[in-house]
Amino acid sequence: MPSELRICSRCVYDTTIPEIVFDDEGVCQFCRIHDEMEKQYPSGPEAARRLAALVSSIKARGRGKDYDCVVGVSGGVDSTYTLYQAVRLGLKPLAVHCDNGWNSEIAVHNIENATNRLGVDLYTHVLDWEDFKKLQISFLKASVSDAEIPTDMAIHAVLHRAAAAEGVRDILIGHSFRTEGIVPKSWTYFEGTYIKSVHKRFSGSAKTSVPVLSLPALFYYMALRRIQVSPFLNYFDYDKKAAGEELAREVGWEDYGGHHHESLYTKFFQSFLLPKKFGIDKRKLSFSARIRSGRMTREEALRILRDEPYPLNMDIVEYTMEKLDLTMADFDAIMATPVRSFQDYPTLYPYMRALRGPIHLGFKLGIVPKILYYKYIY
Ligand SMILES: [Zn+2]
Repeated sequence: MPSELRICSRCVYDTTIPEIVFDDEGVCQFCRIHDEMEKQYPSGPEAARRLAALVSSIKARGRGKDYDCVVGVSGGVDSTYTLYQAVRLGLKPLAVHCDNGWNSEIAVHNIENATNRLGVDLYTHVLDWEDFKKLQISFLKASVSDAEIPTDMAIHAVLHRAAAAEGVRDILIGHSFRTEGIVPKSWTYFEGTYIKSVHKRFSGSAKTSVPVLSLPALFYYMALRRIQVSPFLNYFDYDKKAAGEELAREVGWEDYGGHHHESLYTKFFQSFLLPKKFGIDKRKLSFSARIRSGRMTREEALRILRDEPYPLNMDIVEYTMEKLDLTMADFDAIMATPVRSFQDYPTLYPYMRALRGPIHLGFKLGIVPKILYYKYIY
């Protein structure tokens, strides 16, 4: 970690992000990416126009089918709001949930309530617990800050499978760059080869029943089945707090505390493992996103960041270790292992770097999805 912390002059990203660079005005590259995203997903009347166009093309692609889109649901505010808006806009969604065994009771309740009240069919894919547990342990032993990607990957794979099985071409996810921010890849790097290589190294085999989207599978879904993923909330002037209040009124949605704490593993991960072992304070992502989109002042964010990210909570640590069949001695060993990066394991990243030129061209031509581009190539 650098001895002197340097903070972006516009947001609160700082040199705890190893790849951060600043321009002449002291503004980081993630703020510039945000401005690019603003051009891709404008707000105001233009947002409403683009949303209407997206909705009518989803309806056209899904004409005559039982469902015209698949919406991933976790019980959290973002995904529940996505489902709620999809129904309000006249879409016929299939709600898809990937149960990794870590759901909080409130999350389960929220999913049931929302789908019942909105009259939406729900498909739940339950991961094989023993297999998923092994994969999570592999990532803890790998000593990387990407320990949540087995869940994220399984969700994406399950959404694509469900869409393909139903002949649906549109997947909607509850993502908004205005509230979630742009995740630095040194904090979260996400792709199938990485998952397989980490699992092979720490369990002895890359084989797992947990769904993983490989590059050929992604190609199949995107190019042959022509399935597209839309970060739906980018089309809204999305305000998490107001959305939560609206959902509470309309579909009986309940708050569960911290950001993404609908999963108890996420709670352990974000409130303990990331800050205590990796020095990563994820609040900087959402605070910076809100600063960039004028929803929070930089001063206010800096003031809140001076406090410890989360109260020390050993209960969640004990719960997590017990559920993973690990001892507290195992936990101490995990905490003591030196921090590693995704670049210490076999991944597709070197190839993506080598193909930077053509990928950039593909992005300009609109062939490479914006999300992939921003995530890996910048
Ligand atoms: Zn910045």
